[in-house]
Amino acid sequence: MTENVVVLGSGYAGAGAITKLQSELGGNVRLTWISDVDYHLVLHEVHRVIRDPSVQSEIAIPVQDIIAPTTQFIQGEITGLDVDERVVELEDGTDVDYDYVLVALGSRTAYYGIPGLEEHSRTLKSLDDALEIHDAVMEASQEATRGEPAQIVIGGAGLSGIQTAGEIAEFRDERRAPIEIHLVEALDEIFPGNDPEIQQALRDLLEDAGVRIHTDDPITEAEDGVIHFDEGDPLEFDAFVWTGGITGREALDGVDLENQHNRVETEATFQTSDERVFAIGDSAIIDQGDQPAPPTAQAAWQAADVAGENIARAIEGRPLMTWEHDDKGTVVSVGKKAVAHDVQMLPIDTFGGFPAKNLKKLIAARWIADVTSWNQARKAWPVL
Ligand SMILES: Cc1cc2nc3c(=O)[nH]c(=O)nc-3n(C[C@H](O)[C@H](O)[C@H](O)COP(=O)(O)OP(=O)(O)OC[C@H]3O[C@@H](n4cnc5c(N)ncnc54)[C@H](O)[C@@H]3O)c2cc1C
Repeated sequence: MTENVVVLGSGYAGAGAITKLQSELGGNVRLTWISDVDYHLVLHEVHRVIRDPSVQSEIAIPVQDIIAPTTQFIQGEITGLDVDERVVELEDGTDVDYDYVLVALGSRTAYYGIPGLEEHSRTLKSLDDALEIHDAVMEASQEATRGEPAQIVIGGAGLSGIQTAGEIAEFRDERRAPIEIHLVEALDEIFPGNDPEIQQALRDLLEDAGVRIHTDDPITEAEDGVIHFDEGDPLEFDAFVWTGGITGREALDGVDLENQHNRVETEATFQTSDERVFAIGDSAIIDQGDQPAPPTAQAAWQAADVAGENIARAIEGRPLMTWEHDDKGTVVSVGKKAVAHDVQMLPIDTFGGFPAKNLKKLIAARWIADVTSWNQARKAWPVL
């Protein structure tokens, strides 16, 4: 009997799993890949597009460069998952049957019920988002003067917010644009939850780049052109990018699987409360004991490999592997510079300069090579 395996999403989780499944599954399995875009986006480098839209040609990899001839790709918006009927529902009314499905739909931006935040901010979750932010920053800077520079505010100082602020500073310097950049964080330090050494190193780089950092004061409301804080004075903006948190996708609204805000809970095998449904990446809350796996590209990438293997095992009725997240360290860019921390097998805790910058490039290049070829990775190297 032919089994239908369907993978949802073409991010790290989806692209990685497809690559693994293509090498693992036998001839009696039909593999279908569904995504709303016909490319795999190297999302953890998408902030580069804000500075230079031409970077997109290297970080948006056509699915055709990834799929095997026997894999079917469907471009479509997924609107639901019916686990009783075992179908994936698409916006155009099509139902796609599955025997096993891997949910790898990533996440969307969370607004935590803060009034006006969704209406008045931009998000950074896709290539289109990055291009829109580029246009907004460009327009604001063209209307500004040295005396009255454009006010660009980034809310949330995690990986996305810090790297976005760094890239806008690079944009400002390359174009000598009259821009003031503010990075706003509710908690008492940027890059919350991380080691103080990397927090300080990132703060130093951002401050050197002229980014004004505001911490320890949550946003309470956003209106047209202005943000209000719990304690501090309101901050006016010409463009406001909100990167303050993640939640699950709307496509998983009402799905009959154990979940938290549409992020599907899984065992360390990636199996959900329905044994035919697996989930990884930002879409999933993967049991790892005390803390679930972090919502990072690094975790999605690692999990994808094992998820592919486990789906193949589930089809064959073999025991599933248990995955353990292996934190290989953190590398964060601030424009053309970077900071690395706790990188495995290196004797030094935190470092910057040329080694960190090149390590950041190498991570992205290695991923591109994994899903396509080293030739493609080599082409992308200069823009990473
Ligand atoms: C600016 C930025 C910088 C980052 N920097 C880092 C970093 O330095 N290091 C790090 O480890 N992580 C970083 N991250 C986080 C990392 O990118 C995510 O954790 C990672 O992308 C999660 O992978 P994923 O495959 O689960 O989701 P995604 O990469 O978001 O992929 C989801 C896929 O699903 C598709 N999709 C979504 N909804 C639908 C739908 N309804 N129908 C059809 N298709 C759909 C999307 O198009 C996409 O292809 C960064 C994120 C951002 C935004």
